[in-house]
Amino acid sequence: MKIINKFNLSELSYIHIGPVVKLIVIEHINDFINIVDNYKILGNASNILFKEKQYDTQFVKLNINDELKIIDPDNCIVEIPAGMSIKKAINILSGMNIGGLEEFYPIPGTIGGMLFMNAGTPDKSISDNLIKINTINDSFGKKHFKFEYRYSGINEAIISAVFKLKKKQI
Ligand SMILES: Cc1cc2nc3c(=O)[nH]c(=O)nc-3n(C[C@H](O)[C@H](O)[C@H](O)COP(=O)(O)OP(=O)(O)OC[C@H]3O[C@@H](n4cnc5c(N)ncnc54)[C@H](O)[C@@H]3O)c2cc1C
Repeated sequence: MKIINKFNLSELSYIHIGPVVKLIVIEHINDFINIVDNYKILGNASNILFKEKQYDTQFVKLNINDELKIIDPDNCIVEIPAGMSIKKAINILSGMNIGGLEEFYPIPGTIGGMLFMNAGTPDKSISDNLIKINTINDSFGKKHFKFEYRYSGINEAIISAVFKLKKKQI
């Protein structure tokens, strides 16, 4: 775990606005044990508008060195770390001839931020291919959440998520 006492959130924010705050960088899932309540987890901060003021909140950024895992190659079932950007995930999957998330390439979010918002296009949302979400202490199937348009009802830190994708047509 790395604690940056004076981190300028404008460095992280997509639109480069934000005050100086305490930022906790999570490098291992066990690091969460050391964090008390009242924290705000950040993805790429592409859907958050920070105020130019002091915050009491602790800000948390995931930097767990987890890689995208292929769980079942025949059925294209993959686990993607929550802190990974959707662009990076699509690029890695494309190299393995796995598709199904390409529509989301223009979205500047992470997997965690996208699931929290149930982000997507007018025709498709990130939850459409979801099987389950892994949080700090548990694992929840898709039905556990109330996915609606740009809403998930998720209220805990997402660590990774498992998706059912498809083989790319060559
Ligand atoms: C140019 C541009 C284009 C965009 N296009 C689209 C679009 O086409 N469709 C669309 O739906 N959205 C779009 N967005 C909005 C935004 O990119 C998405 O909502 C994206 O899902 C936000 O992801 P993020 O990682 O940046 O999350 P953040 O902005 O960092 O966080 C958003 C919320 O998710 C929570 N969160 C983040 N990570 C986690 C985690 N690991 N666990 C639990 N909660 C978490 C945060 O606490 C926060 O409440 C766009 C934004 C921009 C700037």
